[in-house]
Amino acid sequence: MPDFPLPPSAPILLLDLPAQHAPIRAELDEALRQALDEGAFIQGPTVQQFAQELSHYLGGPHVVPCANGTDALQLALMALRLPPGSEVIVPAFTYVATLEAAAVLGLVPVPADVQPDTFNLDPQAVQAAITSRTGAIVAVHLFGQCADLEALRTLADQHGVALIEDNAQAIGATFTTSRGETWVAGTVGEVGTTSFFPSKNLGGFGDGGALFTRDEARAAYLRQLANHGQTRKYHHEHIGLNSRLDTLQAALLRVKLRYLHQWTAARQQVAAHYDAALAGLPGLSIPARDPRSTHVFHQYTLTITDDEPGRRDALQQHLAAHGIPSQVYYPLPTHLQPAYHYLGYRAGQFPVAERLCHTVLSIPIHPTLTQEQVAYVAAVVRAGV
Ligand SMILES: *Cc1c(COP(=O)(O)O)cnc(C)c1O
Repeated sequence: MPDFPLPPSAPILLLDLPAQHAPIRAELDEALRQALDEGAFIQGPTVQQFAQELSHYLGGPHVVPCANGTDALQLALMALRLPPGSEVIVPAFTYVATLEAAAVLGLVPVPADVQPDTFNLDPQAVQAAITSRTGAIVAVHLFGQCADLEALRTLADQHGVALIEDNAQAIGATFTTSRGETWVAGTVGEVGTTSFFPSKNLGGFGDGGALFTRDEARAAYLRQLANHGQTRKYHHEHIGLNSRLDTLQAALLRVKLRYLHQWTAARQQVAAHYDAALAGLPGLSIPARDPRSTHVFHQYTLTITDDEPGRRDALQQHLAAHGIPSQVYYPLPTHLQPAYHYLGYRAGQFPVAERLCHTVLSIPIHPTLTQEQVAYVAAVVRAGV
């Protein structure tokens, strides 16, 4: 007899958007119908309404919608007007878009190592990477938990460089400072960015993104940059991008935003169940919680010790054999991606990031997982580690 319950009747998926959308389907259909009837497909009033509602959700920053999270990063860097060749410090362990945005602008991505427990930028590594050419630090709030925003904000201020927050994975997370202030992820840096890629916590039905800033003039500049650099129609003061959020996406995202809070709570509940079932197992660590940050659990990422090579991959195969999908975010650190060989980094330079690529495994976490499914996943992990 297996020492875990039989598989639940419904298949376990890494992401189950149809199940998430089913209860709100009538509202989504109605929003779509209205948008089709109104016909203002580019820059319709709905886009501004969505921006205002998202601003409210985040405690009032200016919100500038754009076409996707990668463009948002590029626009954030464009708005800093850094001299060509300026260095942009990025985590060695992140999704490639964080570097790509700098590289396409002719800026120099400079990886810095991350912390082994939170997977987020190590402020000491950032400090060591700062030079006279540094123009910005890009903090990524990986998997749903804030990077050390207080230390990074202080470093950026001390060195006169900008802080950009890549908040594609942590929308709604907050960070409590040593003075007891609550900071909202994405609103602490000169510019914050996010993505509405369908799998993100606030996902659209295609590509989408947004920028956040507390500076009104910067918001106006970002709005121009995202719309061909124009100040008024056919008057182009800046070299910009065509990077706008479609009205259709905004209409649907307005509906989904109303449920984000409850979906985040559901993710946190799944995480609490996993934590209770998986804490203290030899050879496996549950995701570390930084007590200063809330965690919106874009991913629930285990760390499996690598004292025997292949343990993580063996667990992944064991899960697959029991009908449980899992994913390695990310299998290769940024500095070892072939496209970035030109930067001249070698294996061994960012040991924490490199090791994580061999030890992390993200297991299913989404708002519609049932308790039965969560218990089953946890039992299969326990039996397989
Ligand atoms: C998803 C993601 C992006 C890119 O967003 P897109 O909308 O897919 O362009 C950037 N950074 C991080 C950390 C992400 O997870």
